Amino acid sequence: MTIYNFSAGPAVLPKAVLQQAQAELADWQGSGMSVMEMSHRGKEYMGIHAQAEADLRELMGIPANYKVLFLQGGAHLQFSMIPLNLLRGKASADYLNTGEWSKKAIGEAKKFGGVNVVADNKDKNCSYVPAFDTWKCDPNAAFLHYTPNETIGGVEFNWVPETGDVPLVADMSSNILSRVIDVSKFGLIYAGAQKNIGPAGLTLVIVRDDLIGQVPAGTPTMLDYKTHADNDSMYNTPPTFAIYMAGLVFQWLKKSGGIAAMEQTNILKANLLYAAIDSSNGFYNCPVNHADRSRMNVPFTLKDAALDSDFLKQADARGLLQLKGHRSVGGMRASIYNAMTVEGVQALVEFMGEFAKSHG
Ligand code: PMP
Repeated sequence: MTIYNFSAGPAVLPKAVLQQAQAELADWQGSGMSVMEMSHRGKEYMGIHAQAEADLRELMGIPANYKVLFLQGGAHLQFSMIPLNLLRGKASADYLNTGEWSKKAIGEAKKFGGVNVVADNKDKNCSYVPAFDTWKCDPNAAFLHYTPNETIGGVEFNWVPETGDVPLVADMSSNILSRVIDVSKFGLIYAGAQKNIGPAGLTLVIVRDDLIGQVPAGTPTMLDYKTHADNDSMYNTPPTFAIYMAGLVFQWLKKSGGIAAMEQTNILKANLLYAAIDSSNGFYNCPVNHADRSRMNVPFTLKDAALDSDFLKQADARGLLQLKGHRSVGGMRASIYNAMTVEGVQALVEFMGEFAKSHG
């Protein structure tokens, strides 16, 4: 039976990447060593590391005045490092609140300075992106933070806020590499790796270099972006195997036609799934405003929650795994990141149709 894994993260990885990693696991390209066993200062690993960064720069078109940092601590640590590094003596930062992950970022930022919440979507249960002309931005804000894709709520931006001179900071944990973006519009982009990049344990930060190096006195060395920028992310031992795996994913993306091609496939997959929900005569429902529906995380409910456990049991039996919604919202959630195939989405859609028919 073919297994399709709809987990929100850690999530499905491209089969070709896993197979290459398997082939190279005990002996990387004739070195006689696994990547896991290599010194991070040795020429083999240094080559892997540099190639991963170069491929990412090419894929995303990252301008030369941006640093690419391979860090640890997850996106959660960035909730702290961002205000610590980017407040730069200013009193406060702007934050948009669109759901669970925005909220966590806001909660942490309050430990470092003032937080001005420019807008939220609580009036409709976090189901839409507030229109930009309703945001109450502070022109003196140190930066503006937002979450372009709320992994739990399934709310995604299809536009980029124009914040002028205020650096724009984006938590792209769950939609990085899934759509074409203009990196030069951002001051800082960050993402935990375990959805569209590679295995857990790696956190990616892309930061404009003028924003680095202005931390308060007493900042721990490891929490200062400058430490990592000045040392090519090798101040301490980096998560070498996770970076190697991310590098294989970047090569796979390049071979697959790059991000523009991936975006087209992602649109196709999302359309298939939302069409199945919307054409079910109310058997399935997605609570998210149409224009703001995520291409990566598709939450949906069944018309009768008493059917949930049956749905999950039957889906499991068909090899359609990890469809249970986040514990905070219930229902279902299908995460359809880059590595989820069109066939996987088709298999889910087919099952959903059959299940609705037999329980309608
Ligand atoms: N932000 C978003 C948008 C996420 O989806 C997640 C993880 N699901 C996080 C932050 C937290 O990431 P981590 O577990 O890497 O700290």
